[in-house]
Formats: sequence, structure tokens, C-alpha cells
Amino acid sequence: MLYKNPKLIGSKIIDCVPLQGPCPLDCPDCFYNRPGAFYAPLDEPVMPPVEETKKLLVRINSGGDSCVNMDEVIALTSCYGDKFYNTSLPNTLPNIDYGKFPGPVVFTCNGRDIDHDFYRLEDLSNVMFVRVKVNSWNYDLVDKAVRYYTSREVPVVLTCMRYYTESLVARKVDYEWRKHILNSYWILKDRIWREIWLRYRDNGLVFSCASPRSSLCKDCHNCYTLYQAKKVGYSLGTLRFIKAAQAVNFDPVLAGGKNVFLICPVRGMSTEQEDFIKRYIDRLKDAGKTVHWPAVDTDQGSSEWNICLQNGKAILTCDEVHVFWDPASGVSKFDLGMAFMLNLIKGIMGMRLPVSLINLDVLADRQVEKSFEGLLGKWKHEVVSWHE
Ligand code: SF4
Repeated sequence: MLYKNPKLIGSKIIDCVPLQGPCPLDCPDCFYNRPGAFYAPLDEPVMPPVEETKKLLVRINSGGDSCVNMDEVIALTSCYGDKFYNTSLPNTLPNIDYGKFPGPVVFTCNGRDIDHDFYRLEDLSNVMFVRVKVNSWNYDLVDKAVRYYTSREVPVVLTCMRYYTESLVARKVDYEWRKHILNSYWILKDRIWREIWLRYRDNGLVFSCASPRSSLCKDCHNCYTLYQAKKVGYSLGTLRFIKAAQAVNFDPVLAGGKNVFLICPVRGMSTEQEDFIKRYIDRLKDAGKTVHWPAVDTDQGSSEWNICLQNGKAILTCDEVHVFWDPASGVSKFDLGMAFMLNLIKGIMGMRLPVSLINLDVLADRQVEKSFEGLLGKWKHEVVSWHE
């Protein structure tokens, strides 16, 4: 039977755990080895049929470690196309050569010693990103790890620790006991998670594994987008864009502005798009914002001139623009142009018009150089200058 990881449902990732049995590394409080905590029994491997992995990215060893019995892991997974390998064993150890893997590696640099030290890899050539485990008392270590890896232009994904064993939680005030996917844990409170994210808001190479908004991979996309970025070669624009796309998971509730103008398709909007946008608007309203949604708040029965005029006036009075980007939507390009001009005008006054991207799936695998997506990524993070 093929067991499916519920965290991955709806995402472009599929799990493969090629070797059966508990992980011999047995890191402290690891859920994988705890009986019944993993979504599949440990006495059989998780090997999806190759047919099922077409157009998906195979994540190898979400439990277990790809550098344990490395040759066997490589042989068993050679049938898959797009894939990456998880490990917490550094390539500074004898017999560990990431270059042997036929896919990039995600390395957890503080897998065993979460609080005191992290491994510093020197050969980063086949590393897709470095995962750093975060809790509310290891900020100094995280700062150092972030500095070490991002100064070498390697993306870092922060992963908030969840604890099953209560005695391991050094700052109980920052944690609460609640369910995550299948099991309950001591989980970092959302407010603390946002604070941690804000520490690295301006570092375009630091990402968060999931967000307070959703624990699911389909709402995060880091693994998929960073895999694509590694495959085509990192560029600053690509990474800025990915970071900008993730910011919306943390930003809308935190941002100061109250009036939001939503750029999105109107004609030809699919039911799926409309449902997504409605849920998004509800969240903004719950956070106390007012939203101008052109499909409803602009008189769509009037002339093209009047529609653009109404949208233009709403943009002029908004505090921030949120974008559901559909490259096929002409009106979105027009609205984006108006918002861009307003941002330039605000720039003369030393102000900005913040922008947030909201539909990650559509954008995840688009090449962003010389594109509207690239423009949006740049806009999010840089004050636009007249001299560019
Ligand atoms: S970084 Fe994102 S996509 Fe990767 S495992 Fe975490 S939630 Fe899933």
C-alpha cells in the first residue's frame, strides 16, 4: 500500500523513504522514530510508483537520512526524475560526498544539537538549501547560521521546532500544545513565529518552512521553488521573488495600511481562482482591512474608460496593493501600471506603496527575469529610484 503524507496533499512534492526501519541517527525528540507518529509504518519503505511521480518533485527521506546507506539510497531512487535528498550529516565526514547524489541536497545544519552549534559546510555546490531548526531560545545560533550560509549565497529555510517531550521546552511561555497535521506537540505561538520571521524580513535568502497561515506544503512552495531555482541557476531576482511571494503569509496581518486594492483578473476568472480570492479577502477583513475588489467594488457594467477611472481612483487612495497574478489578464497589467506609477510618485515623497503577491502556485515555476513577476519581486523589497 502507498501511504501518502497528509502535509503534502495538493503540493507538487511527493515523499519517498527508500529504506525501512527506524533512523539510526535517532535525533532528540524526532517524530519519525516515535511509534505511530509517522504517517506510514516504519517496517516498509515508502516508494511511490514512478508513474505517480511524473510532474512532481520527489522528496527523499523526509524521515530517515539520505547519507545513511547512501549507495543503497541512490540505487533505489535512481528511477525518479526530479528529486532532492534530505540529510543532516555533513559532507565534511569521511565517505560522505553530496556530489554522488543525482539531485540536490537539503542539509539540516543543526539536526542533533539544535541549541548550541551547527555544521559549517565548505563545499556547497550540490546544496539546494540549508535547513536551520529554530526555537525561541536559540536565536544566536540561528543568526550565526544564517550569516554563514547566506553570505555564501545559499538559501536558508527556518524550521520551527515542535516538541513532543515537554521537558525539552526551555521557554514554555512561547509554546502551546496543539495539533500539527496528525499529532499534537508543543508548538511555537504564531506571534513568536512572526517575530522570528521579521528578524530576517530583509534578507532575501531566508525563508520559513510553512507559516502561521498554513502548515501545508501547497501553501508554502519553498522546496519546489528552491529546487527550480537551483536547477536553472540562482539569480537575485528569482530569490527576491520567492521571498516576496512568501512574505504575504506573514505580512498582511502585520502591515500597517488599512485600505487594500486587489489586482486580479475579472473576466474569465475561474471558480477556483474566485474561491481563493474570496477566502483571501475574508482574511484581510478579519484583520481589520478594507478591500477594493474590482470584480465587486468597481461597476463592471460601465464603459472601459469608467472601469479604469474607478480602479485608478481606488488605487490612488489605497495603502497597499495585493496582487493575484494571472499573466493572461490584461486589466491586471493596466492596474499594475497605475500602481507602479503611484509608487514612483510616492517615492519622490520618500514613501512607498507596498505590494504583496498572493497566488504562489501560478508563479512558482515561472522564470522571473524580465517579467512582471520579477518586477513584483523587486518592488516588494526595494525603494524604487528614479535613477534606475
Ligand atoms: S519548506 Fe515548505 S514546501 Fe518545504 S517542507 Fe517545509 S512547508 Fe513543505
